[in-house]
Amino acid sequence: MFGRAPKKSDNTRYYETLGVPKSASQDDLKKAYRKAAIKNHPDKGGDPEKFKELAQAYEVLSDPEKREIYDQYGEDALKEGMGGGGGHDPFDIFSSFFGGGPFGGGGGSSRGRRQRRGEDVIHPLKVSLEDLYNGTSKKLSLSRNVICQKCKGKGSKSGASMKCSGCQGSGMRVTIRQIGPGMIQQMQQPCNECRGTGETINEKDRCPQCKGEKVVPEKKVLEVVVEKGMQNGQKIAFPGEADEAPDTVTGDIVFVLQQKDHSKFKRKGDDLFFEHTLSLSEALCGFQYVLTHLDNRQLLIKSNPGEVVKPDQFKAINDEGMPMYQRPFMRGKLYIHFTVDFPESLTLDQCKALETVLPPRLATQMTDMELDECEETTLHDVNIEEEMRRKQAQAQEAYEEDDDVPGGAQRVQCAQQ
Ligand SMILES: [Zn+2]
Ligand SMILES: [Zn+2]
Repeated sequence: MFGRAPKKSDNTRYYETLGVPKSASQDDLKKAYRKAAIKNHPDKGGDPEKFKELAQAYEVLSDPEKREIYDQYGEDALKEGMGGGGGHDPFDIFSSFFGGGPFGGGGGSSRGRRQRRGEDVIHPLKVSLEDLYNGTSKKLSLSRNVICQKCKGKGSKSGASMKCSGCQGSGMRVTIRQIGPGMIQQMQQPCNECRGTGETINEKDRCPQCKGEKVVPEKKVLEVVVEKGMQNGQKIAFPGEADEAPDTVTGDIVFVLQQKDHSKFKRKGDDLFFEHTLSLSEALCGFQYVLTHLDNRQLLIKSNPGEVVKPDQFKAINDEGMPMYQRPFMRGKLYIHFTVDFPESLTLDQCKALETVLPPRLATQMTDMELDECEETTLHDVNIEEEMRRKQAQAQEAYEEDDDVPGGAQRVQCAQQ
């Protein structure tokens, strides 16, 4: 099958590619490949051909069976033995070696580990109603972790790391505890010695920049653009601006708008609500006042001649509500809710004067005989909201007392009586 006479150069090229002697151990091979593959990764401006050669060499030599064939018969024999296949994607080999993250740490034992996604960082961002009406931008200074540039996120000067002794490099620790007679619970937790990374770095070899942490804090100023018409609770995301970590896709920084209450205006969707109190004279005889809008424009609000405004009445002004999000030229309505401030009492003279202009009283149209047939009553002042609250509390109390009766059946009986 491997009848061809082996050429001497045939079974040394892979060793030369990785720069290791033929006697190299598995660990030597790993270290050599790791160093060379990072250096020659096309993403970092390395030569793609060289990168491919490294992956091929490592793929063969890291497999004891393939290595034996290669050592004995050379590259060609191996190709024939593999059915002429061109080997695997060099990027697959690279990522399986490094656990998915192109330039993260990751021990050799992390084969097949999935690339994690970093957590999103959520920040509430308080905005005024004026901010949402006019649009604004806010510069915010945040601190975040970025991959250490000195060690490229390795955490060590040499790029090497050791398998964590606490978890044998798996990053996870299994704890077993007894939860009952003959019952045990097995729990898997991230190793606390290596914080789930599966590796430790020799103290002397630690990167002086990040002290072996692989990341360093960085101050960053983000400009958050609050667009006209944005809503309370709306999210503004900065993709990939959260904390960086080796082997991890960086999460987003997300700002969540929190609209502060406004002293004058209330917002409902695209509409604005404004409270205004009229005196009784204004309500009956007309009014005019200036309303300062959220962009400081002065709106003149006035009644129509002869118009009477009733308590609790609403009126609306079109196109003076909130600008619509991403269609700021369109606006909702501005609703004005009127409260009428009645006088506490009137003098007899005031009543006589009013009666001359207001519609006549109904009572005056009743005869003395009709009045005699009626019963006298007294009207008391009440705070109706308080009255209702008290009644509700009483009802609740009664219900709870009822609940104390033991046994549901008894209660049914009671109800039937
Ligand atoms: Zn560093
Ligand atoms: Zn560990």
